[in-house]
Amino acid sequence: MQTNLADFIRNTPEGVEADAILRKCVHCGFCTATCPTYQVLGDDLDSPRGRIYLIKRALEGAQVTDKTRLHLDRCLTCRACETTCPSGVRYGRLVDIGRAVVESKTRRAPLERARRALLAWGLPRSRLFAAALRLGQLLRPLVKVPPRARPAGEWPRPRHRRKMLALAGCVQRALAPSINAAAARVLDRAGISLMEVAGAGCCGGIRFHLSYQEEGRDDMRALIDAWWPAVESGEVEAIVMTASGCGVTVKEFGHLLAQDPRYRDKAARISSITRDLCEVITPDMVAASPDRGPLAFQSPCTLQHGQQLRGRVEALLAKAGYTLTAVNDAHLCCGSAGTYSLLHAQISGELRGRKLGALEAGRPDVIATANIGCLTHLQGGTATPVRHWIELLDVNLEVK
Ligand code: SF4
Ligand code: SF4
Repeated sequence: MQTNLADFIRNTPEGVEADAILRKCVHCGFCTATCPTYQVLGDDLDSPRGRIYLIKRALEGAQVTDKTRLHLDRCLTCRACETTCPSGVRYGRLVDIGRAVVESKTRRAPLERARRALLAWGLPRSRLFAAALRLGQLLRPLVKVPPRARPAGEWPRPRHRRKMLALAGCVQRALAPSINAAAARVLDRAGISLMEVAGAGCCGGIRFHLSYQEEGRDDMRALIDAWWPAVESGEVEAIVMTASGCGVTVKEFGHLLAQDPRYRDKAARISSITRDLCEVITPDMVAASPDRGPLAFQSPCTLQHGQQLRGRVEALLAKAGYTLTAVNDAHLCCGSAGTYSLLHAQISGELRGRKLGALEAGRPDVIATANIGCLTHLQGGTATPVRHWIELLDVNLEVK
C-alpha cells in the first residue's frame, strides 16, 4: 500500500515503524474472515483492513473523529488477523501506534474518560483490587463479581539449583492465587524452584491497552526494577508467565522500551528470558496417564496469536490423560480481552456466547485455558468448571 505520512509523525520511530507495516498491507482482505468484530458487526471499518485504512488516514494527517476512535476501540487486539495475514502485516504494533495518535487528537466524553481512568488507576493496584473484590463478594449476588478464590495451597520452598521467577501480577493474584502456586508445585516436582519477587506487580498491559501508554511503560519499568537483581546476578534462568495476557506484554518489553536509553537493554534481556509456562513444561516431562475424561481447551488469543504458541498445552493435557474435544472456530476471541468485557459488554457477551457454544459442543467435564482474563470471563457464562491448565496438571500429573 502506498503511504504519505504527515510531517508530525513521518520521521519519528513510531512513524517509521508504522510506515513499514502499512506498506506491507496489500488490502487483500483475507484477515476479515478471522476477525471477531467483523463477524459480529459486519462493518468493514470494524475489520482489520478497515482499521488499517483508518490508521493510515490518521497518520497521513486526515481529520480523525470520535467515530474513528470507536472503530479502533472496538478492536479486541486479539491479533487473529496477524496469524491470518499472508503478507506478514504486524497489525498489533500498528494499532498501538494508531490508537496513540487518535487518542491525542480526540476527546472522550467526561463519563467515559472517568470510567477508563478509574480502570487504569484501580486494576493494576493489586491490594486495592483485592479489597474491592472482597467487598463485592460479600454483596453477591447483588454485585456481579467472581466467587471467592480457591485456596492457593502450599508453595514449595526454593530447594533446587534451577530457579525461575514468576510474575505475582495484579488481577490474577486476587482472583486465582492457586494458579502460580500450582505452577510452583509442578515445577518443583520437575526440579525447578519457582519464586515470586516482592514488588513485581502489573506487567503494564492494562494501562498500555487503555491508551495510557506512558503510564503502562512506567509499570513495565517498575517491574523490570523489581526483577532485575535476580536476573542480573544470574540467580534465575528464566521468567515464567502463567497468564498468557501478561506473557505477551513482557515478551514485548524490549520493543516497547526501545526508545528509553535507561531501560532498553534491561527490557530486551527480560523479554529474551521470558517464557510461557507451556514452553517450560514439555510433554516429555509428563508421564502418560489413564483416561481422565473429556476436556475442551480454550486457547487464549495472547497464546495462539500474540505468542504464536499453538498445540503445546493441548499436547500436555493429552499426555496427562485428557481427551480433548473438538472446538469449532478455536482461533476466535472469547471476548474477554483485558478490560474489553467491561467497556464493550455487548460485543464481548456475544463473543462469549459463541465461544462457550463451541467449547461445550463436545460435552466436556471441564474447560481449560491459559489466561486469567479468559478464565474469569468464560466462567461467568457457564456452570462447567473453567480452570487454568496447570491446576489440572497439578492435581493429576505424574512428573517423570
Ligand atoms: S492485513 Fe494482511 S490480510 Fe489483511 S488486508 Fe492487509 S495484507 Fe491482506
Ligand atoms: S486484532 Fe482481532 S479484533 Fe482487532 S482487527 Fe485484528 S482480528 Fe479484528
